[in-house]
Amino acid sequence: MRVSRSLTIKQMAMVSAVAVVFIFIFIVVQLFHFVQQSRYDTASQMESIAHSVRLPLSEAILKADIPQAEAILNQIQPSGIISRADVVLPNQFQALRKSFIPERQIPMWIARLFELPVQISLPLYSLERPANPQPLAYLVLQADSWRMYKFIISTISTLLTTYLLLALILSVAISWSINRLIIHPLRKIARELDNLSPQDAEGHQLTLPPLHRDDEIGMLVRSYNRNQQLAFRQYQEMSLSGTRHAVSDLPNKALLLALLEQLVRNEKSSALIVVASETLSDAAGVLNEGLRETLLLTMVSKLKSVLPPSMVLAQLSGNDFGIIAHGTRDSWYAMALAKQVMAALNENMPINGLQIKPTASIGIAMFHGGLTAEQLYRRAVSAALSARRHGKNQIQFFDPEQMEQAQRRLTEEHDILSMLERQKLAIWLQPQVNMRTGETVSAEVLLRMQQPDGEWSLPEGLIERIEACGLIVTIGTWILEESCRTLAAWQKHGIAMPLSVNLSALQLLHEEMVPSLLEMLSRYRIQPGTLILEVTESRRIDDPDAAVSILRPLREAGVRIALDDFGMGYASLRHLHHMKALPIDALKIDKSFVDGLPEDGEMVSVIVSMAKTLGLKLVAEGVEQPEQRDWLLAKGVTIAQGYLFSKALPPEAFEARYLSSPLT
Ligand code: C2E
Ligand code: CA
Ligand code: CA
Repeated sequence: MRVSRSLTIKQMAMVSAVAVVFIFIFIVVQLFHFVQQSRYDTASQMESIAHSVRLPLSEAILKADIPQAEAILNQIQPSGIISRADVVLPNQFQALRKSFIPERQIPMWIARLFELPVQISLPLYSLERPANPQPLAYLVLQADSWRMYKFIISTISTLLTTYLLLALILSVAISWSINRLIIHPLRKIARELDNLSPQDAEGHQLTLPPLHRDDEIGMLVRSYNRNQQLAFRQYQEMSLSGTRHAVSDLPNKALLLALLEQLVRNEKSSALIVVASETLSDAAGVLNEGLRETLLLTMVSKLKSVLPPSMVLAQLSGNDFGIIAHGTRDSWYAMALAKQVMAALNENMPINGLQIKPTASIGIAMFHGGLTAEQLYRRAVSAALSARRHGKNQIQFFDPEQMEQAQRRLTEEHDILSMLERQKLAIWLQPQVNMRTGETVSAEVLLRMQQPDGEWSLPEGLIERIEACGLIVTIGTWILEESCRTLAAWQKHGIAMPLSVNLSALQLLHEEMVPSLLEMLSRYRIQPGTLILEVTESRRIDDPDAAVSILRPLREAGVRIALDDFGMGYASLRHLHHMKALPIDALKIDKSFVDGLPEDGEMVSVIVSMAKTLGLKLVAEGVEQPEQRDWLLAKGVTIAQGYLFSKALPPEAFEARYLSSPLT
């Protein structure tokens, strides 16, 4: 929404109009005052001139000496303000007239308005103190109207300019302060309200402008906020009244549907789980009302105990429950949740001496947009019905593909976790050797799993499977913990040999990784520089800003970073300048390049010079032949790892072989 005419403009127009009216009134009043003043001055000046010639003129007129009288009148001329002097006899006969300045025409209305010209008349007596008061004649002096006219015009223009300037200054000042004090905060509020989306509008609160807590704007904001709160509470009460189940006090179907509407509108991935309890429906005929209610309430409290507080539990009917699992994206997570719900419901419930072991059928519908609330609800109900057809205590997805996905993933997850529990997973150590001296300087931690035949190895694709089922953080943290434990044990015996631990890209991106590793470092008091993280080049590493923000705090805590499998993909070479920004310490030359040595050494040469440019350490991986070692040594690469020196060993074997001081 745009404002077509701003308040600032309206207020400017208003101020200007009022200013013009008042300026007009002021000018008229002042003009009359000034003109009056000037008339008075002129008249009194003329009066004194007339008095100065009065005696000689009276004598000349008494003697009827006209030339003498004219000569006397001529004396008046130099004063400049008088345009005409007349001598008029008492019978109005004009005896003498003397014009000093040629008469110039002034506008008629000015003459009328200001009573121009200004005239004075002085009686002339025969004696100085006449006994007979009858005057001999009158001396009439008339001021120069043109002079007065010029004075009026110049006064008007001076007044007009002064007042207009004053009005301009005032209206700018007023506009500015109104703008700052009123328009700005109002505009901010108007914009905030205008940009409000319908979802945010409910219960929306305005922030109180800091400088307006005590004025009308503050009052406006406070009243708005109070009304909003009131309206929101009323809305909530209205929408909640009659939407609760009488016994369990859980939201009923109507409220669940209303909440689903909201969820569908926000298009956030979620799962709807419908739990149909056969036991509750069977109990209807067997248990009395009171016992049935107790059973229901027991089941509700069991359900509540396994659901995170963010999820909504509703009672759809006497026997059915609905769960909105907000933010659930993965079907396996919904499945895991449904399994927990099922386990909680299947527990024995002692009701009035009876041991009841309820059964249930659970249906799940996933929501990723593109469904109405009603459709989503129907899907979950239909999945629950299908579960019931499959037998007792079954869980079904509406979409069979989701069912399969969830099953696969949960089985995998279960298998891997049980391997960890049964100690079928272990870390082994592969030495990293200084090829010049033959000394083992560090080791790489490698994951191993015990096979059914008792052998330890890393099964093909295990890391990928761990990543795929979302366990990489769990397993990765366990590997880090084992590595730190090993380092701490060594450091207790004065052995400062570092360990290199592989970090998968997914693990690197996990928000908990950095804080949990930092916590481990301090808990095990790991010496700075003895834990090295091997990260593989990935899209993230190509995005230096993201990588830097993850790796920097670790590096500051004394963790060293090595780029694993370096050289796979030319991207790394193209992005040499990106590499400069990365907080890394070492490059590991990928085995595929070492394999080509000594015949094909081009790539390794490039990597060696690159590491030199960037000031990074180098470790060669997969060295199997003495020729490869010699070639690398000739190129200045001293640290290497490979079957030529040793395969990965169990930690005890590694310690026995490579650590100088024995560990007890
Ligand atoms: P990687 O990090 O490049 O590890 C080096 C792999 O090369 C190891 O295989 C090691 O046993 C093997 N290797 C070392 N020297 C030689 C040699 O001279 N010749 C041959 N042919 N192979 C050699 P492994 O242990 O099977 O690990 C394979 C990959 O699995 C690793 O590659 C790493 O990407 C991943 N991985 C292993 N352990 C872990 C772990 O604890 N965490 C994570 N995230 N990934 C791991
Ligand atoms: Ca590695
Ligand atoms: Ca590698």
